[in-house]
Amino acid sequence: MQRSRYRDAIRANYAELLFTCAAFIALGAVCCWYLSGMMRKQMDLYSESVMTVSQAHLQALINADEMALHDSAVTVVEALNYGVPREKLKDVFTELSNNFLEQRNVKELFAAVYGSIDGQFIVGGDWIPPEGYDPAQRPWYVGAVRYKGLAYSSEPYKDLITGEMACSVSKVLFDKDGVDRGVLSVSFLLDPVLKLVQSISFAEEGYGVLFDRSLRVISHPDKSFIGRHMTDIPSYEKIRENLAMNIFGTQLQITDYTGEDCLAFFSRLRNGWYIGLIVPYDRYYSDIYSMIPTISATGLVFMVMLCFILINLSIAKMRSDEENRSKSSFLASMSHEIRTPMNAIIGMADLMRTDNLDETQREYLVDIKKTSGALLNIINDILDFSKIEAGKMALVQTHYNLFTLFDNIRSIAEFFTAEKALRLECDIDETLPRVLYGDEGRVRQIIMNLVSNAVKYTHKGQVSLRLRRTTKNERDYLAVSVEDTGIGIKKEDFPRLFESFEQVDKDKNRGITGTGLGLPITKRLADLMGGEIFFESEYGRGSVFTVLLPLEEGDPFKADILKRRTRCSVSQDARILVVDDNALNLTVAQGFLARHGVRAETAVSGEEAIEKIYTARYDLVFMDHMMPGMDGIETVHRIRALPGAYYADLPIVALS
Ligand code: ADP
Repeated sequence: MQRSRYRDAIRANYAELLFTCAAFIALGAVCCWYLSGMMRKQMDLYSESVMTVSQAHLQALINADEMALHDSAVTVVEALNYGVPREKLKDVFTELSNNFLEQRNVKELFAAVYGSIDGQFIVGGDWIPPEGYDPAQRPWYVGAVRYKGLAYSSEPYKDLITGEMACSVSKVLFDKDGVDRGVLSVSFLLDPVLKLVQSISFAEEGYGVLFDRSLRVISHPDKSFIGRHMTDIPSYEKIRENLAMNIFGTQLQITDYTGEDCLAFFSRLRNGWYIGLIVPYDRYYSDIYSMIPTISATGLVFMVMLCFILINLSIAKMRSDEENRSKSSFLASMSHEIRTPMNAIIGMADLMRTDNLDETQREYLVDIKKTSGALLNIINDILDFSKIEAGKMALVQTHYNLFTLFDNIRSIAEFFTAEKALRLECDIDETLPRVLYGDEGRVRQIIMNLVSNAVKYTHKGQVSLRLRRTTKNERDYLAVSVEDTGIGIKKEDFPRLFESFEQVDKDKNRGITGTGLGLPITKRLADLMGGEIFFESEYGRGSVFTVLLPLEEGDPFKADILKRRTRCSVSQDARILVVDDNALNLTVAQGFLARHGVRAETAVSGEEAIEKIYTARYDLVFMDHMMPGMDGIETVHRIRALPGAYYADLPIVALS
């Protein structure tokens, strides 16, 4: 049972559910796209900052080397200018070395101060060069000569003094007379630089690499590459091409020496070395990759929750619709059950009025008629309202005479207003068509509702009923307006007026019977006919209610028939059959007809009616609608299906 309800709810809300899912998927996709774009930017900024910081640290170390060379060169040139003897120069070199060993920013890097002055090798400290050592062949010497007085940074080499990897900065020295006195070199250990490169990482992922000017590996996590050329690492081909074209600062997608897809970032140091950061692709975007399933899962959970809520709401609505339907149908059948005896009571009371009654009996009878009439009105309102709510209110379209209807309503209104000593003014626009096509009964109900409200809520003065022709949006309308000089309606009550069971200004209206259904029914009926209702009211002065109904002009041929029918009266020798399953109703109908001198025959079921019509000729049949077994409609169908013009033309009037 529950499962089938879910199935029905899903089927009924198929489009909404599909839309919800599509909306969530689109939202998820937009979130992922937007957030991943944001995160990608963050990642790029982060990698850029890692590169900038690493580059700055390395540059600081290299600068320290150059500063040390510069300071040493100033001291040595000064000594040469003073003409310090050659044997004393070694003391100057040693003192310089000792100084560097004490300086905070240099001591960890510093290896030695040495040089070739006036063709003689001098070194600070006790190192004795090996036999055959020729300074003029050493890279620091050759490089400095090539750089002609500028500082030359050598590529890394194995230091002869310390036996460790080192590099040197060297330059040619000129004395005050501009004479070339030889080359001074300061060498530095590579270890602190290597440690720094090894510490480079991106959020603890990836690694740093360092290449010298000629693209030889200085630092790499795979030690076997150290000292080899970049071309020996085939996966770095793309990097090499970019560096050759001096392209820096862009991400490069490469396959690493381990075979992993990576992103590489490279930049150049001032001494011409290249520093690089290489991060596995997966880990670079890992946050983005992990975000997508998280967003998708969250979206999915919300989507399922929303769909679930939608389905449950729909089930609740279906239940309440079902309840409403059964309530409405219960109300309808109850009202019908009550209405039938009520009609009988009113009919009987009417019949009794004609008999010889004394004054008290007559008064009792009037009271019975009044109260049962009021009760019948209430029951009728409830029945109509439940029909409208259940969507079962259908209009019965026929040709009718508007002027006859107007006269009819006027005479009832005259009766109402006379009882309350109100003036009545009725006016119909003579240019209105006589014959209209529509539901006469419901048009009457609309006008009567407005008139009876006007009478109910007016204590002195006048009630006016006007029927006019009006045009709106190029369409013709019948405008019915009912104006009164009654109690009027407060502005704050305006919005509630057409809501069901709403009775406004209750204090003032105490003692006035009503259901609060009259105006809602009137509005719904006007809507159903394609019309509209509006009102104006001034509290304490009166109100005007206006209904516009589309003017459906009748077919002239049918109108002619109607005129002929309305002309013909119900003659005394006419043979009439009344069909109703309710014996009381039959008695009432017979009583009424007897007042006009007509003796009516009766049938208590559809079957009996057909039998009687088959065997005798009638001029008119009054047919009840709701009857057990064969109902009124089926009975009429069967009569019409009988062969012969008599059965096709026999006038049958529905009794309701
Ligand atoms: P009821 O059966 O109570 O008359 P209606 O739906 O016809 O219900 O009207 C709703 C309320 O609107 C009434 O209770 C009354 O307060 C107010 N009303 C309707 N018509 C008029 C009128 N002509 N003058 C003043 N008040 C009115």
